[in-house]
Amino acid sequence: MPLQTCLACGAAQYPSRDVCRVCLSDALEVRETPLEGHVVAEAALHRSLEPDRLHGGPLRIGVVATDLGIRALVALASNVRPGAAVWLTASDGPAGPILAVRKDAIDPAQAGGPGNFHG
Ligand SMILES: [Zn+2]
Repeated sequence: MPLQTCLACGAAQYPSRDVCRVCLSDALEVRETPLEGHVVAEAALHRSLEPDRLHGGPLRIGVVATDLGIRALVALASNVRPGAAVWLTASDGPAGPILAVRKDAIDPAQAGGPGNFHG
């Protein structure tokens, strides 16, 4: 998944920012970074200013605590529940730019690309 990374200390940044959240360096670049974690919270969105995102029912979103020390608000694949081990992957689907998929549903080598999950 594309993730902004500090060239001075190596800390991952999410969301992207002007200076590093750890060392305040402005030497940041976006790198393809496999990102995994655990779902720590789940919610359902029933209303949106972008109605296309809710096509087919409420949108399931969640917070994922990642192994890089950041927490991300993401869309959840249909089979992902709180506590699940997940990969985060970039998505161009209607649910949003980041999708959490179960670790057993995706090849880690593909975790950085869009549209490569199986459920
Ligand atoms: Zn830094």
